[in-house]
Amino acid sequence: MKDKIKGCLIGSAIGDGFGYPTEFMNVEEIKLKWGNNGLTEPIGDIIKVTDDTQMAIAVSKAIMKSYKEENLIRDNFEKELINEFILWLNDDENNRAPGMTCLKSCENLEKGLKWEEATAKDSKGCGANMRVTPLGILKFKNKNITDTQIAKWSQFQSVITHAHPTALVASELTAIAIIKIIEGIEPTELIDVLIEYSHSQKNVYHDDFLKNIWERAGIYNEVDFINRGWEQCIEILKRVKKAAKLNDKETDPCEYTGEGWIAEESLATGLLCFLLYPNDSVKALIRAVNTKGDSDSIACITGALVGARNGLSSFPSDWVQRIEYQDELNDYISFVLNE
Ligand SMILES: [Mg+2]
Repeated sequence: MKDKIKGCLIGSAIGDGFGYPTEFMNVEEIKLKWGNNGLTEPIGDIIKVTDDTQMAIAVSKAIMKSYKEENLIRDNFEKELINEFILWLNDDENNRAPGMTCLKSCENLEKGLKWEEATAKDSKGCGANMRVTPLGILKFKNKNITDTQIAKWSQFQSVITHAHPTALVASELTAIAIIKIIEGIEPTELIDVLIEYSHSQKNVYHDDFLKNIWERAGIYNEVDFINRGWEQCIEILKRVKKAAKLNDKETDPCEYTGEGWIAEESLATGLLCFLLYPNDSVKALIRAVNTKGDSDSIACITGALVGARNGLSSFPSDWVQRIEYQDELNDYISFVLNE
C-alpha cells in the first residue's frame, strides 16, 4: 500500500515532467525531433515539472494546513487553498506554461475577490483535475475518511478556479479512480465501476462546499447543474471503454478520447494510456507523452494511475531521483502515511 501511495504522487510528477517537452508538439514533430520511437525517457539532470505538479503541491500544502482530527476543516481548507494558489501565482518558478484559467482566477483571488466571483464559471480546462492527486491518496491517511469526503474536497479544490460542472466532476472522478486502483480494482473493471459511480452521484450537489455556484443562465437548479457534468463524463468514459477494447497501441490515444486540454478528456486519455499498459508504468508513460495533445497533463494523470497500481518501484530509480520538488512531494507522502 505504501509503495502505491508513493507511486501515485511521484508518478504523477514524473509523468508531468516527462511530458513537458512534448506538450505543444504533434506526433510528427515529436518523431522528427527524437526519432521514430518518440521521446522514451524524461529529459534533464533534474526532471522539471510544470504547473500540474506545482499546483498539486499547492493543494497538498493546503490539505496539510487545514487537516485536524481526521478531517479537513472546510473554512480552513478554503482559506489555505486560496493562500497557496496566490503563492503559486507569484512564484518565480511559475513559468512552465501555466493554464490561462488558473492564472486569471488566481489573479482575481489576489485582488481580494471571493472565490465565487474569482472563479471561471464556464471553464472546464484540465487545470483542476491535473492537480487533484493529493486528495486521491488522502483517503488512505485514516480509515474514517470516506469517498464522499474525498468527492466533496476534490470538487471544492476545482471550484476555486474552474466552476464548470464537468471540471468539478472530472476532478472527483480522477480522485475516485486513484482510490479504486490503490484498493486493487482489476483494470478491466475500472471503467464500468466509474460509470456506475457516476450514475449514483448524478443528483448529488455538495451545497455545503459549492454554495450557489450552480446559478447561471439556462440552468434550472443544483441537480440540473451537476447532472451536466456527470453526463459529459459518462459519455467520455464510454468512449474510453470502447477504445480500450481495441487495444490499439499504435494510434495516438488522443484520436480516441481527445487531446486532454479539457477536464474530461485529460482524465479519459490518461485512463486509456493506463488501460493500454496497466502493468507497465514506463510504457504507459511513453504512450501518454507521445501524443499530440496536452501531453504533460495526460502523462501526469497516467502517471498517477499506473503509480497507484504498480507502485513507486515500477519507475526507474534514476527517474525518481531526478524529479523536481522531491522534498515537497515527500513531505506530503509522509503526512499521508503518518510517518
Ligand atoms: Mg502543465
